[in-house]
Amino acid sequence: MNIRESISFFFFGDSCLACGNSKKIDPWLCHNCKEELIACGQHPIWPGKEDVVCLFPMNSLTRSLILAMKYKGMQKIASYLVANSSVGRKGEALQILESWGKNMSFVPVPVHNARKRERGYNQCEQAALELSLHCGGKLQTNVLKRRIYKPSQTSLGSGARSLNVAGAFEAKKAQNLKISPQIVVVDDVYTTGATTASCARALKRAGFESVKTCTLLYELPASARADMVADKKIGWRTEED
Ligand SMILES: [Zn+2]
Repeated sequence: MNIRESISFFFFGDSCLACGNSKKIDPWLCHNCKEELIACGQHPIWPGKEDVVCLFPMNSLTRSLILAMKYKGMQKIASYLVANSSVGRKGEALQILESWGKNMSFVPVPVHNARKRERGYNQCEQAALELSLHCGGKLQTNVLKRRIYKPSQTSLGSGARSLNVAGAFEAKKAQNLKISPQIVVVDDVYTTGATTASCARALKRAGFESVKTCTLLYELPASARADMVADKKIGWRTEED
């Protein structure tokens, strides 16, 4: 547990992040919620594209975890989600990910430096690290850069989202980097796919031919807009999602 997590632990106590039950058996969830998390990681839904997998569906349980990860300083929840998608029988999504190849390069969606300074970490980097450890690949943080600071995606429709992130990323030339050319872009939540598609375009322009996507959660665009309203009311999700 790092300092931020210790502080969060102090303020939020030892109750389950999902149901509030105070009988806690692991860092964040009670026994029942953890069982539920593992169950929904076994058969997750994702957007039905062959180069995209998501480890969990967005539901009230996974949403509590992702909000704590993004806004309460608990970046290790990213590792926790990856680890719990492969407990016992391996989760379907992780099996697909492993079938894509060995020694792949896991590239987190970068956050703008100002955002990283404010939050202290990039949760996508933590997720990419954990995925690389599980799949025997490598975390690569110096491939993609975010060029411009963009406002929140969450309240926008899919067309507006694509425009909002078009050209937001740039990638280093593949020929100048000694890394596996098989790229997996890692993001926390997949909604319309505009962000990861923009990353993929930048990587392909830079000469990477195989670019796939893995996210922790999949959220249907319509639910994302409803959640945005709820999140704003409690002071979360203020700018970029
Ligand atoms: Zn619980």
